[in-house]
Amino acid sequence: MSGTGDRQAFPAGRAAAVVVKAIKAEPGRLSAADLAAWGAAAAESWPELQPLLRWFGEHKRDLPWRHTRDPYKIWLSEVMLQQTRAQTVIPYYQKFLQLYPTVQDLAAAPLAEVLKAWEGLGYYSRARNLQAGAEYVTETCGGTFPQTAAGLLKVPGIGRYTAGAVASLAFAQPVGAVDGNVLRVLCRLGNYPWQQGNTHDRRAGEALLDSLQQSGRYPAGPLNESLIELGAVICRPGAQADCPACPLQAVCKARISGQVKDLPRPSRRLTPLPEEQRSFLLLINQADQTWCFVQRPASGLLAGFYEFPSLDGKVSQEEINRYLEEQGYHLLKLDYLGPGRQIFTHLIWDCDFWRAEVSLPQESGPPELTASQICGKLGSTPLPGRSESQLAEPELVYRTVSHKPAHAEEPAPELAAAGFSQTAIWLNPARAAARLTFPRILQSFLPGSGAVDSLL
Ligand code: SF4
Repeated sequence: MSGTGDRQAFPAGRAAAVVVKAIKAEPGRLSAADLAAWGAAAAESWPELQPLLRWFGEHKRDLPWRHTRDPYKIWLSEVMLQQTRAQTVIPYYQKFLQLYPTVQDLAAAPLAEVLKAWEGLGYYSRARNLQAGAEYVTETCGGTFPQTAAGLLKVPGIGRYTAGAVASLAFAQPVGAVDGNVLRVLCRLGNYPWQQGNTHDRRAGEALLDSLQQSGRYPAGPLNESLIELGAVICRPGAQADCPACPLQAVCKARISGQVKDLPRPSRRLTPLPEEQRSFLLLINQADQTWCFVQRPASGLLAGFYEFPSLDGKVSQEEINRYLEEQGYHLLKLDYLGPGRQIFTHLIWDCDFWRAEVSLPQESGPPELTASQICGKLGSTPLPGRSESQLAEPELVYRTVSHKPAHAEEPAPELAAAGFSQTAIWLNPARAAARLTFPRILQSFLPGSGAVDSLL
């Protein structure tokens, strides 16, 4: 394997060399014109991509969004596919199109209902952006999607990749769509020392693919789609790349020079993610073995979701006892379950988990509700891991308490209107434990706990 110094950083050519120097020296000040000049030079000496397009025609996966040129459907699929596998997306994509067949239908839907339909797909800001984008297209564009990448970039929530994907796939506009998969393919084909997460390397990739598109040598949509597909199924990260099956193996510089698994280079995180210490309580009412869930605030991380009650920091048994007394509970038994870490994109929760059996105050008369009643009331309020099958489970009993513990937030307006005095709910895990979804709820909050059933 040759060292990094042997690697050809960018294609030869004086213009390219000047631009590369500028990228390295003052990346923040690189003009769009310089970048375009580098992209054009790179595209000129780029290998022939017809084998890729032929391979795509013969081997592409049959995915529902590949049967349409409707910009609304393509946009929907692209948003859903961000950070999410195609097989996971398919049922959500189909459900969304049943619920909201047009962009106007999506714009008119209550946000809470859209979030409910999104439940389980994760990264909920995508659903909020989708609806904001649908409102913009409906109200500002008269219900018709802009046909150019520049026009699409004005739609809230649409970034450069999605604009390129919709413009090329729906309107055959010659513009690139560079996501992480495509950037990896371009990086390896050119054997560039690009780094994951580096904005300037991404801009170079975008300039290169835009130039390839503008050369007119290839149809716009299939060029983008075939690069996306190659990155997803063949040119996979690290050592997972299946070069012997690749239609471009003969011209791939990284394969020829033995650099594949090292490209793109891993990102160097300059500052570690901030950590938040939290202590979660699996709070169990000894009388009926129901468990307490409280609703998170209406904005921010996991907004509006239910979770186990928690205290800030790592706390002692005495602190937990005092806390529970303040809530009006009587602690009967307390066990430490162990630590766990939950890693989000911008934050790490460093957690302790405790199991606390309590007795509730007398005045907590249990107005019991069946699952269908509670779902009618909770309606649009997401519970992590909740699924339609679980909602339809008639034996799953949730219970509200009239006593308002201090750890509960004020109820959301729709819950208050439905008669909820606070946002803590108690639900029966014994019945739900056998259902697939409930352990998943726990698992999402007990990342280090191992077998969840053993906790019940
Ligand atoms: S030969 Fe290997 S590294 Fe090169 S593009 Fe194909 S799969 Fe990727």
